[in-house]
Parts: sequence; C-alpha cells; structure tokens
Amino acid sequence: MTRLNGQRMDANVVVLGTDNVGKSALIVRFLTRRFIGEYGDIEFLYTHNVVVDGRVQTLNIWDAPYSQDLSSESLMCEKRVQWADGFVLVYSICDRSSFNAVSRLIQIIKSTKDFLGFEKMPIIIVGNKRDLHHRRTVLSEEGRLLALSADCQFYEVSAAENYHSVLMVFHGLMDRIRESRVSVKKLAGIKGIVKSMSAVFTRRRTDSL
Ligand code: GDP
Ligand code: MG
Repeated sequence: MTRLNGQRMDANVVVLGTDNVGKSALIVRFLTRRFIGEYGDIEFLYTHNVVVDGRVQTLNIWDAPYSQDLSSESLMCEKRVQWADGFVLVYSICDRSSFNAVSRLIQIIKSTKDFLGFEKMPIIIVGNKRDLHHRRTVLSEEGRLLALSADCQFYEVSAAENYHSVLMVFHGLMDRIRESRVSVKKLAGIKGIVKSMSAVFTRRRTDSL
C-alpha cells in the first residue's frame, strides 16, 4: 500500500462523494489541467507521477462510485481504507444532500479506520462548484466547521473555473500523507525505545533473581 523507497514515494488516494458533485471533473482537472464538461460515470484508477521537492511521487487516484446503501458502503469502505493513504471527500455547494453525505462518509471512514487499527487517516473535504455561488445552499462556514470538528482540511474550489484551487487540494493531501508517515515513523521509533528499555529492565530483574 504505502511505499517509501529511497527517492520514490507512492500514495493511494480515494475520491468519494455522491453523484454529480464533480469528482471526475476534479481529478481530470488535476491530471490534465482541463475541464471538459462531461465525464460519464465510469469507475477509474489513475496513476500519475509528480515531482515534489525533487522526489518523484506516484499518485494512484481512485475515482470511486457512490453507493446509496450505507451497509454495503461500509463494507466497501473497509476495502478502501485498507488501500488508501488518504481521502478526498467532495460535495457540491449547491447540493445540501451531498454535504450531508460527506459527514456520513467521514464517520464511516473513521470508524472503519479505528476497527482496522489504522493511524490517523488524512482526509480533505472539498466544496466544489464555487462558480455557482448564486445557487449556493451550503455556506463556506459549514464546510469549514465540519472540517474543524473532524480534524480534516477544507477547500472550496471550482473544477470548472480554477485549476489552481484544484491543485491545492491534491498538494494539501500529499502534504498530509507525508506528515502522517513521519508521525507513524516517530511512533514506531518511540515504541522501539520502550521495547528495548523494557527488555533491559526485564533482563535486570531476571539477573537479580
Ligand atoms: P461526479 O459524478 O461526481 O464524477 O461528477 P462529474 O465530474 O461527472 O460532474 C458532474 C457535472 O457537474 C458535470 O456536468 C460537470 O460538468 C459539472 N461540474 C463539475 N465541476 C463543476 C464546477 O466546478 N462548476 C460547475 N459549474 N459545474 C461543474
Ligand atoms: Mg464521475
């Protein structure tokens, strides 16, 4: 899943959200800089190389379908959490139900992550279609608050009109994935120290017996 191999670093990203919020538009915009308007609804796994700080990073991006049925959604989610190093959860600022779905997805991801015993999972919340502000039904504040309460990062973007904002989303996620790996390494380091200290103490105790 995760591979840190010399100068190379791979990351698996799952993009989730209800239908029609612009998941495919966001991914295609990030990968090609273009907005083509219609994308179909095919599930797709993209592989993309980016150079970050002089290192080649391979991003695998899964354009995932949305299931209305939450019980099968949680089963699917288990697979996705196992595969993923990070999530992009997308809603449309003109679609309240898509925003509610993001809250549910966060809960499912967090409980699956706890169940599987994973460390903190990097999640970015994205409010898309910012250009349609006249049809807005979800306030920026609501997105920001949700992100704050769930300890996620938040961006409002327009896949249609702003390439830079889309770039920020994926770069933000890559940063978070990198940070999470550093903290996992640190934790492993601390665990290692605790292990060797307890080995020393156990040895001393048995020596003195
Ligand atoms: P998905 O089902 O979540 O993958 O959504 P799509 O990427 O297929 O996009 C659904 C529809 O929303 C398409 O007609 C897109 O052209 C449109 N769309 C996507 N992003 C934006 C955006 O930022 N602004 C506007 N106005 N339309 C968008
Ligand atoms: Mg799509």
